[in-house]
Amino acid sequence: VEFGGLRVRPEDTAEIVELARVARLTPRGCGHGTAGSPHGEVVVDMRGLSTVHDLRPDRVVVDAGATWRQVLAATLPHGLTPPVLTDYLGLSVGGTLAVGGVGGTSYRYGKQTDNVLELEVVSPQGELTLCSPALRPEVFGAVLGGRGRHGIITKATLSVTAAPETVRSFKAPFATPGELLHAQRRTPADHITGQAKPDRYELTAVFYGPGRLSGATEVEEMTYAEFADRMRPDVAELVTLGEWARPHPWAAVFLPADRAAEVITAPSPALLGLSGVVLITPLRGDRILYALLRTASPGAAAPAEMLRANQELYAQARRVGGSRYVI
Ligand SMILES: Cc1cc2nc3c(=O)[nH]c(=O)nc-3n(C[C@H](O)[C@H](O)[C@H](O)COP(=O)(O)OP(=O)(O)OC[C@H]3O[C@@H](n4cnc5c(N)ncnc54)[C@H](O)[C@@H]3O)c2cc1C
Repeated sequence: VEFGGLRVRPEDTAEIVELARVARLTPRGCGHGTAGSPHGEVVVDMRGLSTVHDLRPDRVVVDAGATWRQVLAATLPHGLTPPVLTDYLGLSVGGTLAVGGVGGTSYRYGKQTDNVLELEVVSPQGELTLCSPALRPEVFGAVLGGRGRHGIITKATLSVTAAPETVRSFKAPFATPGELLHAQRRTPADHITGQAKPDRYELTAVFYGPGRLSGATEVEEMTYAEFADRMRPDVAELVTLGEWARPHPWAAVFLPADRAAEVITAPSPALLGLSGVVLITPLRGDRILYALLRTASPGAAAPAEMLRANQELYAQARRVGGSRYVI
């Protein structure tokens, strides 16, 4: 994300309130968003506000600059977890609540934004407000998924649920997107994701208790903590390889489940890059997240060509009744 102008790193909410009264602010969490941000005069680095405050059996109150890794580190010793975690935990709570936040449990619990009980927000005019589905629901609705345009989330009360100690993960290959989508709907797993690979469509079904995926070619058992933070070693490797620092013209769309197979295709290696990934994740309400996580690696298409391919994807998604997921 390209930001111009001044950057500040407040350590309490009062500083953000004061700033909002004199300047237009753009909040920034971990800075992983690839869609850009509305430009304000001052960038507010939220990482200075990252305390996990109060943990109860059904909820946790956290500062918006905390990462999901920090939230999980506080809840897991008490056997609790947020019901939906993103695939990567090095993202801020405010950053994913500003877009949506989809994970392998979204087919059951929806997005992370569907699991928020209350928010503390600094409005663009510098007013500090509390909002929830019952209290100022219009502010709550505008700020969740609002990409920082309607206020800065400073604190969030998130629901939590029982966490398993260990999980078992199964992978199974399918020949077509239709077969993968069908298997995703029929598998009674706790965490369901999928990927399009050059030669197959792969279902990953994770069980928090007994249960297995028939036809699985790979089985792995691990602690829930290892599973939740499974991308951490991959990211470390991408940093070492230099891939992490290259342009990432990512595209993501939500598709209606019954028409998703018309859009999903085997990825073109040139348009995906060396470390690119294609995600196919089912969501509550018969929607599918289809995400092309492209990297402009050496030898792959240039970023401009990848961005053109993204525009085609958004148009295809709209034609079948889908929409863009702005991340
Ligand atoms: C490796 C990786 C894996 C990912 N996996 C997933 C995934 O599994 N599921 C998924 O849904 N997404 C995923 N994402 C996308 C990610 O959820 C979004 O890009 C998210 O916005 C990044 O959070 P951030 O803290 O880096 O936010 P930033 O990039 O800092 O900000 C993103 C947007 O949020 C706004 N914002 C930031 N903080 C606040 C705040 N406190 N209040 C209001 N607005 C704010 C910013 O102004 C900006 O518009 C992934 C991204 C990466 C890099």
